[in-house]
Amino acid sequence: MELIYILTYNCNFRCKYCDVYKHNNSISEDIIKQSLIFLEKNNFEINKVKFFGWEPLLKKDFIKDIIKDFPSKYNPNFFVTTNSTLIDQNFINFSKKKNINLTFSIDWDVEANIENRILETWDNLSKNIIRNTQKYADFIRVNQVITSKNSKDFFKNFKFIYDLWVRNFNFLPAYYVNWTKTWLKDLKKWFDEILNFYKSWNDFELVNLDNYSEISFFNLGIIIDTDWSIYWTNLILSWNFEKYKKELVLWTIFDEIFIDISNKIFIENYINKISKILEKEYSSEVLISVKYVDLILNNFCNEYKTYRNKYMKSM
Ligand code: SF4
Repeated sequence: MELIYILTYNCNFRCKYCDVYKHNNSISEDIIKQSLIFLEKNNFEINKVKFFGWEPLLKKDFIKDIIKDFPSKYNPNFFVTTNSTLIDQNFINFSKKKNINLTFSIDWDVEANIENRILETWDNLSKNIIRNTQKYADFIRVNQVITSKNSKDFFKNFKFIYDLWVRNFNFLPAYYVNWTKTWLKDLKKWFDEILNFYKSWNDFELVNLDNYSEISFFNLGIIIDTDWSIYWTNLILSWNFEKYKKELVLWTIFDEIFIDISNKIFIENYINKISKILEKEYSSEVLISVKYVDLILNNFCNEYKTYRNKYMKSM
């Protein structure tokens, strides 16, 4: 089961494609302390702890505090996803020491970062992203964001990141738009090209294999919000879902929990509730096209896995 801490709703970027509701709410020391008590009191099967922000490194010290004081009865892997501009050697050293899976979410080259990411000092920050990616390439993973607009350059962008010596990729197609047939064809064509590239070089890892979610659009888990509420979906981070928070909230970190959240019926009911909200918020075209995106991504993952297993056996 995943546990997600939402550390802040703020971000130092305003990317054009970003669906996240941004404001100044951030988690506090008191909420962190109480959340750790809550986790100590309960027995969840937590194997992953993810730090979301919008830019989680705006709250670097809180990440360190949570990891340091995380109840010892759990033994999770920790994950931080960042736009990389606030990274420093100190945090890299901490991540290495604590075995944190650190992911940089990047678009591709400097020009494209400038185009998509609305920055105060764009050019410098964009160069910073590329520089940091290259500097820490042997340690980090990269989320390659694929929007419908950039799907035509998907392979070129992958190659750009690969040439920075990144070897751990998570491909992240945008889920909140209507993918036209042309965009879907591009997506499929370039996934095939990436697979062929892998077959020639065998030297990058596909992080998607660890992140698989059965449901398009959202992940399920324990989501601790900045105001001590607990949800079961990270969709509450989106603009479209802010208004459903009251409907989706499960508990607070002060509550005693009397239901088994790994129970199938509980999960099915919650998924049904979310699915109904998705149907209200998105057109059927968007929801259907997202299924195709998922199908293309899943086929790619399966083919990668099959080829990789064969290759490993032959060694
Ligand atoms: S860096 Fe991430 S969270 Fe921040 S605006 Fe861009 S996509 Fe959104």
